[in-house]
Amino acid sequence: MKIIGLIGGMSWESTQSYYRLLNLGVKEQLGGLHSAKIILYSVDFAPIEVMQREGRWDEAGKVLEDAAHALEKAGAELLLLCTNTMHKVAPIITRALHIPFVHIAKATATALKENKKRHAILLGTQFTMQEDFYKKILEEEGLRITIPDIQTIEKINYIIFDELCLGKCEEKSKTLFLDTIHQLYTDDTTIDSVILGCTEIGLLIEEKDSFLPFFDTTVLHVNEALHHAL
Ligand code: GLU
Repeated sequence: MKIIGLIGGMSWESTQSYYRLLNLGVKEQLGGLHSAKIILYSVDFAPIEVMQREGRWDEAGKVLEDAAHALEKAGAELLLLCTNTMHKVAPIITRALHIPFVHIAKATATALKENKKRHAILLGTQFTMQEDFYKKILEEEGLRITIPDIQTIEKINYIIFDELCLGKCEEKSKTLFLDTIHQLYTDDTTIDSVILGCTEIGLLIEEKDSFLPFFDTTVLHVNEALHHAL
């Protein structure tokens, strides 16, 4: 079993999901008392979030690059960055890295294609939904991506940073997510899937709440890591 390096803390609420899912996956595949070999570098999210808002991405990238190198030095044999949004700086993180970097959007695209999906709703932070760094990877794999309107993007972004990353799951926020999915599907019935493109969204809504299949990026990222590690 390979040692999995995690850059976490963005937010720590969803890093807990990574730790739990990686261990559950190892237990399922190896049985008994087996558990995942993990080294976690958990950052302080507050300054990173300010850098995001102020567009200081190179600076944030450098913080995460240093974390990646610390994990590599400590013995990690593959690397996961436990957030979709910060994959914007994946090129900085990987530029001098020698261990494999498991990219969350690539793992997501693979899962959608394996399940014969063609047109997905993408839900995530405003950066993930509006910018190219994430959507482009999905589109290059032949997937069509639909995002909500600007007002809804702002509401979802607020829910992610001011509720989910702080451990709050509000019923009205769950309703907003589910209504958004329903409305987008009503507007275009070629939609066949929903990407939970933020590692905290799976803490709020579950596939059983919706009529469309969910692709939870936290779960898909973990599965791809387990595939490499075992
Ligand atoms: N965990 C989130 C994501 O998957 C949002 C927090 C962040 O901006 O990194 O995008």
